[in-house]
Amino acid sequence: YSGKTPGKVIAEKLHRIKVGEIKSVPVVVPEHCSVYDAVVTMFIEDVGTLFVVREGGLLEGVVSRKDLLKTTLGGQDIHKLPVGVVMTRMPNVITVGPEDSVWIAAKKLISHEVDALPVVRPAGEGAKSTELEVIGRLTKTNITRLFVELGEGN
Ligand code: ADP
Repeated sequence: YSGKTPGKVIAEKLHRIKVGEIKSVPVVVPEHCSVYDAVVTMFIEDVGTLFVVREGGLLEGVVSRKDLLKTTLGGQDIHKLPVGVVMTRMPNVITVGPEDSVWIAAKKLISHEVDALPVVRPAGEGAKSTELEVIGRLTKTNITRLFVELGEGN
């Protein structure tokens, strides 16, 4: 008997599992992409959040369902309106790294009240030190899937 409480065992596991092990493929659009094309991309890719990137996959912002719905209230032409105008922009985007624990990721999802986090790493060669390259997507679904797997006793 290890002397560990069940709660402690679960906590240790959640801190040991890394974001990189459970992340999904990111769905990205360029900043000049229209709101209309962003909506189409959300349907085709079956995601609720798109990451807005520029060349090299460098993170510019995040656009959610609500951001897109909001624009339909303004009466603007969604074919002409770029997502760059309606997205949440860097440096206000909450991110995680592949080596962060899934617990840290879940904590960020809850405390910032968002559905998805871009998984990022510092951009390489020739980029500014603040620039981040998008390498994945961590959503509430990833956490729920892990929860189900853990519940199965794996
Ligand atoms: P939805 O709009 O579908 O409810 P969210 O709750 O995730 O999705 O988004 C709410 C707001 O938070 C939106 O304005 C969105 O741009 C912003 N947002 C979403 N994800 C992030 C993130 N990782 N970092 C910062 N802001 C985000």
